[in-house]
Amino acid sequence: MTAPVARNGDVSFWYGQIGGPPARRAALAGNRSVDVCIIGAGYTGLWTAWYLKTLQPDLSVAVVEREFAGFGASGRNGGWQTGGFSWSREKYLKAGGTRQGVIDMGRALRGTVDEVIRVTEAEGIEADIRRTDGLVVACTPAQLQRVRDTYEEETAWGAPRDRIELIGGAEMRERINVRDAVGALVTHGVARVQPAKLVRGLAAAVERLGVPIWEGTAVTGLEKGRVTTDHGTITAPVIVRATEGFTAGLPGQGRKILPLNSAIVVTEPVPDRVWQQIGWNGYELLGDASHTYSYAQRTADNRIAMGGRGVPYRFGSKTDVRGRTQAATIDKLQGILRRLLPEAADLPMAHAWCGVLGVPRDWCASVGYDRASGMAWAGGYVGLGVSTSNLSGQTLADLILGRDTDLVRLPWVNRQVREWEPEPFRWLGVHGMYQLYYRADAQEARSGGRRTSVLAKIANRLVGR
Ligand SMILES: Cc1cc2nc3c(=O)[nH]c(=O)nc-3n(C[C@H](O)[C@H](O)[C@H](O)COP(=O)(O)OP(=O)(O)OC[C@H]3O[C@@H](n4cnc5c(N)ncnc54)[C@H](O)[C@@H]3O)c2cc1C
Repeated sequence: MTAPVARNGDVSFWYGQIGGPPARRAALAGNRSVDVCIIGAGYTGLWTAWYLKTLQPDLSVAVVEREFAGFGASGRNGGWQTGGFSWSREKYLKAGGTRQGVIDMGRALRGTVDEVIRVTEAEGIEADIRRTDGLVVACTPAQLQRVRDTYEEETAWGAPRDRIELIGGAEMRERINVRDAVGALVTHGVARVQPAKLVRGLAAAVERLGVPIWEGTAVTGLEKGRVTTDHGTITAPVIVRATEGFTAGLPGQGRKILPLNSAIVVTEPVPDRVWQQIGWNGYELLGDASHTYSYAQRTADNRIAMGGRGVPYRFGSKTDVRGRTQAATIDKLQGILRRLLPEAADLPMAHAWCGVLGVPRDWCASVGYDRASGMAWAGGYVGLGVSTSNLSGQTLADLILGRDTDLVRLPWVNRQVREWEPEPFRWLGVHGMYQLYYRADAQEARSGGRRTSVLAKIANRLVGR
């Protein structure tokens, strides 16, 4: 039985915690000229502005945002700051990267956890950041094999031995009492954050550096040196696209990035007697190794936030209305919570919401700058953007300022990725993939989960994952 949810949408619970969605800053008033115009005030756009202004204070930089800073995934996510690799090392290699380049990229990504903490401390941003471990729990032998494979892959690609380890089911249950745990992959050196506090704090920091953020200003046209909005035109030799899951709404960008839905439910504060049964004293990031995948955090005010897929994709790359999600999705997430943590099954639900993350055709993030056209972009993080976006900001600043650093040579820089298919093939592909994942999980559960279902492998091939 699904428990009723007190609130659905209105962007996210994280905003509920800080007094609701914020009042908007002023919109663009008439035509303006700047050195760099950034489209989108999520982590990517704001980190880019922060590094540009920190490195070159006399540069004029402006951010244009259709809604308010942090309206997108940056104000709605699961708060996993992992420094993880997004996503396939083999693909970066095949696309012309070197093995050392891919290893260096992994190191740079891991470094973003410390870097974000350094900047938030320096800027006085209070975002409930807590250093912790990530635990990806396996509940069947097939899942255990997959976490072992991940461990092997990570170590083969240069993850230091003190970054990851495998633990058994009993040790996992001592940390978090996941009912059927048979083992887990532990990742050290990650952090839990309150996403909206982070993005709002970052926006304020960027503003203090002298960057205007024109909110309530929608970009309607994009060409060399010129950004057209519903409030005027901005002339800028450099234009940065930082619109991630919303990119399809920009003219000429309809098939570059697919908006994949992810949704979260959050409980009311969990009573101490339930925590005594569950454990979770280290506030670890908790995920599972099913094909459909879920992610959870214990919030600073001691609730459980549990996220997962739900309805994966809306036809025609449509996005949700202020985070409102479907009843079927809420049902699925509560089912996952009950399965993993039966002690939490009867907890009242405070809030449910959803958002879009950005998926490029090859499921690998990229960052780039074309000096000839002045166009720069970053994204396609497929759900790992909380940390990856920080590396985007650092890298875009170096590219735009012409700094010859190690970052501009990493293999995700200036990659060309083919576009998604037109509809209805896009919709059919993504829905087909998730149907196969659900069936693969069900098949593994029925058969005692001894090995990974072949359906999951077919699903991955279907959309080039
Ligand atoms: C539910 C959910 C859970 C997630 N959990 C995690 C997690 O735990 N860990 C993790 O690493 N990642 C997670 N992610 C992904 C992560 O949140 C994103 O990768 C990251 O926030 C992307 O930041 P961004 O700035 O690139 O995009 P966004 O934050 O989406 O920002 C894009 C901005 O562009 C603006 N915009 C769009 N179109 C226009 C236009 N025409 N004109 C002006 N402005 C425009 C939007 O309003 C928006 O504010 C999750 C995502 C979702 C949706």
